[in-house]
Amino acid sequence: MKIAFIGLGHMGGGMAPNLVKAGHDVQAFDLSEEALAAAEQAGCNRAASAAEAVKDAEVVVTMLPAAKHVLDVYRSQVFGNAPESALLIDCSTIDVGSARTVAEEAQAKGYAMVDAPVSGGIAAAAGGTLAFMVGGSDEAFAEAQPILEPMAKAVIHAGEAGAGQAAKICNNMILGATMAVTCEAFVLAQKLGLDPKVFYDISSQASGQSWSMTSYCPVPGVGPKTPADNDYDGGFAAALMLKDLKLAMQAAEQAGVEVEMGEEAEEMYEAFVEKGGGSKDFSGIIKMIDGSWSE
Ligand code: NAD
Repeated sequence: MKIAFIGLGHMGGGMAPNLVKAGHDVQAFDLSEEALAAAEQAGCNRAASAAEAVKDAEVVVTMLPAAKHVLDVYRSQVFGNAPESALLIDCSTIDVGSARTVAEEAQAKGYAMVDAPVSGGIAAAAGGTLAFMVGGSDEAFAEAQPILEPMAKAVIHAGEAGAGQAAKICNNMILGATMAVTCEAFVLAQKLGLDPKVFYDISSQASGQSWSMTSYCPVPGVGPKTPADNDYDGGFAAALMLKDLKLAMQAAEQAGVEVEMGEEAEEMYEAFVEKGGGSKDFSGIIKMIDGSWSE
């Protein structure tokens, strides 16, 4: 199929090549020349703009930082330039309200659209093992599923438009809080004289086990290779984690639900970002906790 892929950063840059490998013809666009050149190297075709990428597309996939980029790209580049028959799939993590707004605007212009945010880091994006949580009609989901499969280990229909984003922000509230407390536990364990590798081996097989501990360990040289082994570069930026926690807090307030642990995690990430850690991987918060962080 002819697929336009817009947003080739940490995540999109890994995902688009999996569509190429699955035999699709991928027209790629990103504002960053570096990201675009890497996608071209990986077999995508370079487009001069998002509007050019979506011309003649059967499917449009976007993987952008935040709601303002998603609303802007759909309103100014996709709507009216992509054929009305194109299926629109937004994989970015944004608030439920904006996801519903853009889906309604798409529908009013004759497009089928789903929100399909993902779970899994850059390794899962590159390896084609992301979990997609999809919001949209049954028909749009059925159309989106085979497109998403080459990039996925799971594609789950969460409900109507916006339901994928609701699942995603609740999931990431768990992730933010578990990463923060996992970092605290490693700092405390070391202060108590435990070797981090030994603590990892124990906790990964005990009840402290979580994805943050076992698959994305915040301590270098411990567990599988993670951004910790790269001085916390690459991966999932702390600023994006803060964005997701803010989305969760906003949703909790609107829904009238108290989420104290989530709020605590949000405050910790806010402090880390204020101290200049925003572009570091979110597991880098361990450096703020152990006092070794300096800009
Ligand atoms: P990123 O900042 O690395 O990539 C976003 C890309 O979008 C950048 O390359 C940027 O140049 C491009 N872009 C911005 N505006 C554009 C425009 N108008 N036209 C074309 N390109 C534009 O971010 P990322 O880490 O790849 O994350 C993307 C989304 O996925 C975010 O919503 C994030 O919350 C979510 N997410 C990230 C991870 C992760 O581990 N990084 C995991 C799950 C979900």
